[in-house]
Amino acid sequence: MIDGVLLKGYGGFYYVYAEDRVWECSLRGRFRVKDQEFIPGDRVKILPEQEDKATIESVLTRRNVLSRPTIANVDQAILVFAMTSPKPDLNLLDRLLIQVTDAGIEPIIVFTKLDKYNEDSGTAHKEGLEITDVYRNIGYIVFEVSSKTGQGIADIAVRLTNKISVLAGPSGAGKSSLFNALSPGIQLKTGEISNKSKRGRHTTRHVELMVCSGGLVADTPGFSSLFMPEMKRAELADCFPEFAIRRNQCRFNSCLHDKEPNCAIKAALETGEISPIRYDHYLIFLKEVIEAERKY
Ligand code: GDP
Ligand code: ZN
Repeated sequence: MIDGVLLKGYGGFYYVYAEDRVWECSLRGRFRVKDQEFIPGDRVKILPEQEDKATIESVLTRRNVLSRPTIANVDQAILVFAMTSPKPDLNLLDRLLIQVTDAGIEPIIVFTKLDKYNEDSGTAHKEGLEITDVYRNIGYIVFEVSSKTGQGIADIAVRLTNKISVLAGPSGAGKSSLFNALSPGIQLKTGEISNKSKRGRHTTRHVELMVCSGGLVADTPGFSSLFMPEMKRAELADCFPEFAIRRNQCRFNSCLHDKEPNCAIKAALETGEISPIRYDHYLIFLKEVIEAERKY
């Protein structure tokens, strides 16, 4: 038996990536139970039969499950935003960071179109560097890349190896271009996988994982849900790393860093250690979380 990862289910078969190839798998009898669902990302043991056919013998417990798109065992989320054209929607970026952090998945921020950005701003690329540095200084992993020139792409490729990643970000940010720029790095033994892993626009409706730079990447139009995850109001600050490191430094233990006096977060805002954009988003999200709390 060999270990593999489910890429997708389609037409009654399950496609499993194991030992550098894709296997068309059917299910053992005991799995053919109604409602038994396998989802992309599931770690399975398969028994090879003939050629590329195999049966799924067992499935391992899921480490996590992401919904919309439904994928199991996600290691990291690559949040893709353009540095320019369009200008990055930082409210959306912060929202995605919270969703990902709350789900226990590591975020990696990729700012694309670096070439265009450099071209537009000449030598004085102040604004953009500030944006990317805000996130870098918080401690996030941040890359600035160009899918057009290839600048920075190799640094992302090494991050994908042996991991399950999801690509998220608004349409037009450059996700497809990034994926295509990453793909030539695949070192595969068979030509079959690279064909199967080609991203086609028409295929984005079904969630599936594709082989990319030695790892698996979810083919998804992005996180469509813009709602805050269900959480208590006090938990929101923990999803902001620069707030979380100042935990227990406020005068009140229950401080929500809004109107309370002697607030360590607001003090850090004053000194410029916390970005006003991030703080604004925190207040917007806090309101939403409180609204949602009332509905439970
Ligand atoms: P998606 O909707 O996120 O998949 O975005 P696409 O990959 O389709 O890219 C949207 C547009 O931005 C296309 O016209 C791309 O050619 C362009 N684009 C994407 N990445 C880059 C880049 O790094 N540099 C430049 N100059 N254009 C890019
Ligand atoms: Zn506070």
